[in-house]
Amino acid sequence: MFFPMLLVAAAEMHSGRMEVAAEIARDRALCSAPSGKRRTVRGIVVTDEPGAEGVYRRLRVTADGGAYLIVHYDPASESIARARAACLGRQLELLRGLTGDERQGAQWYSVVFTNAANYSPPRGPSEVARWTIETDAAGRLTEAGQRTLTAVLPHEQVHLFQYRMQALPPRWFLEGHASWVGLKVSDRIDPAAAAADRRLKAEGAAKSKGQPLNLAGWGSVRPKREAIMRQVSDEDRARMMRDPNFAPSGSFRFTADDLIGDESNIVARYHAATALFERLEREHGAEAVHAFARETTATAGRVTANRMDELVRKHFNIGADALLADTTPSGTAR
Ligand SMILES: [Zn+2]
Repeated sequence: MFFPMLLVAAAEMHSGRMEVAAEIARDRALCSAPSGKRRTVRGIVVTDEPGAEGVYRRLRVTADGGAYLIVHYDPASESIARARAACLGRQLELLRGLTGDERQGAQWYSVVFTNAANYSPPRGPSEVARWTIETDAAGRLTEAGQRTLTAVLPHEQVHLFQYRMQALPPRWFLEGHASWVGLKVSDRIDPAAAAADRRLKAEGAAKSKGQPLNLAGWGSVRPKREAIMRQVSDEDRARMMRDPNFAPSGSFRFTADDLIGDESNIVARYHAATALFERLEREHGAEAVHAFARETTATAGRVTANRMDELVRKHFNIGADALLADTTPSGTAR
């Protein structure tokens, strides 16, 4: 009696795998659809939005849970914008599934298909950020346009998810999480773009090998050296000029112009932060990492170093310092 049941189970497993393979093939076809095609996928609705912004018209792409984005396009790029609309909808579905996003009717970042080299999107508090997807004079997608569509955009959309409750976690978390999830989407829809993204990060990291990563300090605000130099004794100033590592003691006053975010060694930091999330996935499983990311971004306001430490301990059973210190990106390049 067991035999037929086993057979059924085996057949189900087999058809499950076939279904996944077929879905992946379909997603890749959607994301490389040539101009003129209008692919349709069950659950993704593409509608023309009323109104125009100069020559730019727009589509609305709605996916499951009512998640949607606006696609702007210039006249030359209309055909490719319509061809790739379903790809953009699939990205939202994949992102919702991967992040465990349960919001209904959420608007995600917009895109604009344009061949205007000087295109600059309207900005302002009421504007949803818009990513430019480059086309050529004939309205065909350029290589850069395809890369933005299938590698940059998934990463940026994760930032929108992270900001859904106006949480402000540290930079290493934001970029590591966005790259980790974004690359999963890219792997699925355009493996060549995902591989190119990984290669760029690894090459950039190799170039600055040996420089300290200080992931915890990434993006932190610090005063410009000139602003300190202006306020110290002649003796200290001379020493600061001789020795770039010398930091004089004392209290200083800074204006907003005196402060800069620490954005040094940036590609290596992207690479290391991505590798950190990939390592967490290997050691704790993807679901644990997603739960950590959801909780880290669940409440408004700055996520302090102490709070970050608490969250890392809760989800991974080590301190944030230990986690960040143990970052060796060169060994984890793929
Ligand atoms: Zn980012």
